[in-house]
Amino acid sequence: MQNKIINHYQQAEFLTSVPKAALAPTDEGIEIAFAGRSNAGKSSALNAITGRKALARTSKTPGRTQHLIFFTIDETRRLVDLPGYGYAKVPLQVKRQWHSAMETYLNERQSLRGLILLMDIRHPMTEFDQQMLGWCQHSQMPVHILLTKADKLKRGAATNVLLGLQRQLQGQDHITIQLFSANKHTGVDEAREQLDKWMGFSQGG
Ligand code: GDP
Repeated sequence: MQNKIINHYQQAEFLTSVPKAALAPTDEGIEIAFAGRSNAGKSSALNAITGRKALARTSKTPGRTQHLIFFTIDETRRLVDLPGYGYAKVPLQVKRQWHSAMETYLNERQSLRGLILLMDIRHPMTEFDQQMLGWCQHSQMPVHILLTKADKLKRGAATNVLLGLQRQLQGQDHITIQLFSANKHTGVDEAREQLDKWMGFSQGG
């Protein structure tokens, strides 16, 4: 049994919400971004990982669904809730804006250390997910995939999805993957450990 790890993310505080990457806070320190198709369970995961029940509700505010939302952890570290994607019948122009915003952010953000990519375990590797993985591969950005709502499948079936995706992603060293359930609190510590590594918290810092 592992020791329970410290939750550094409980200190998360809303910093700002911006409609495009160009308006993001000064690009310094360390940032980790969360991305996922809308309804993948991003808000629930952010709330579970930080241990703050209502932290990510801002992203649901009408008019802000396409915003990048920044949370501070401490003076130098931030979490970012990237706009969800995949609302039914999004106009082409909105799609284009989203593509350009994501690409710019992932390619140019110096403080970005890693991306947490959320996929509903019942519908992994959507077009959106593959697009994000492609951009991350291009910029050598580390990605940690959370297969969300793992409680929706039996344990064996969930493990099969995990193993299948691990096989599919074999050889892509910058990608790791795990099971996650906000409802059952499965994989929360594992996700925090990954964040700790990227944030530089690992050595008791
Ligand atoms: P977002 O749009 O990606 O921020 O997704 P939400 O966090 O709002 O979740 C979308 C829906 O999935 C909501 O109805 C949640 O209650 C549900 N959901 C999120 N996480 C879990 C989970 O771990 N297990 C189950 N069964 N449902 C979940």
